[in-house]
Amino acid sequence: MSTEFTFVVEKSCPICGKSTRVVKVKSRLVATQVDNDYCCHYRDFDPYLYHIWVCEHCGFAADEKVFLTALPMSRRELMGNALVEKNVHFDFHEERDVPDGIAAVKLAIFCAEVLKAPLARRAGITLRLAWIYRLSGNREKEKVYLEKALNLYIRSLETERYPIDTLTDSMVMYLIGALYADLGVRDKAVLYLSRLVDEKNRRNLTDEKLYRDARRLWQAVREGTAETVGGTEPEAKAEQEQAAKEKAAAPAKKAAPAKKKSGFSRWFS
Ligand SMILES: [Zn+2]
Repeated sequence: MSTEFTFVVEKSCPICGKSTRVVKVKSRLVATQVDNDYCCHYRDFDPYLYHIWVCEHCGFAADEKVFLTALPMSRRELMGNALVEKNVHFDFHEERDVPDGIAAVKLAIFCAEVLKAPLARRAGITLRLAWIYRLSGNREKEKVYLEKALNLYIRSLETERYPIDTLTDSMVMYLIGALYADLGVRDKAVLYLSRLVDEKNRRNLTDEKLYRDARRLWQAVREGTAETVGGTEPEAKAEQEQAAKEKAAAPAKKAAPAKKKSGFSRWFS
């Protein structure tokens, strides 16, 4: 089977071991726009609807790389039992509409949580869900999942060791800045992006494209010309004002103990 943009292949499910049909996207897509958070817009097609493979037998859902990775028996049992308990049933369709795509990604988030996948990987899946909402015009839900992805990336940067998959801590720093910019929280966006464009840290950032992207977005946010999901700036301001009041009212605290030199602290020490 094949459509203009997709084709079907058979793969073995890493959880139940049965052969299942999965949909792959043809590589001849034409990109029309790339957003600050690297969401890519393509002509007449949304590949994020197909990013997740779902087993048509047990309902296990993950991206291609995870789906093709063998798991030890204990993890297979843990995942299989969780899917049975949740009573998962996902019909196979070669063509996915927006609700199908959203259901697949939500199922993948559930599976990643059960398997205790790295926070950075869970953040990436969540960000793709936000992009599906963006590309289908649902700004309210887009914002909800941008915030969830942002919080996962922040927790990841504080606690996880990089690289994770192909992600470096500099990329995650950029994404956190970009997501704050999307959400209209300009001071936090500038804070994170400035760590990447600061000349002091320049020697640590060997990724030239990432440096240029960070610098361009840092300037746009400072000038107030970066695109946002909309309507969050007043909230962000109110939050800042409240934080300033609390800070003024609180007695001086002792400095926090030094954290280990990884992730977040590498940039903020
Ligand atoms: Zn399966």
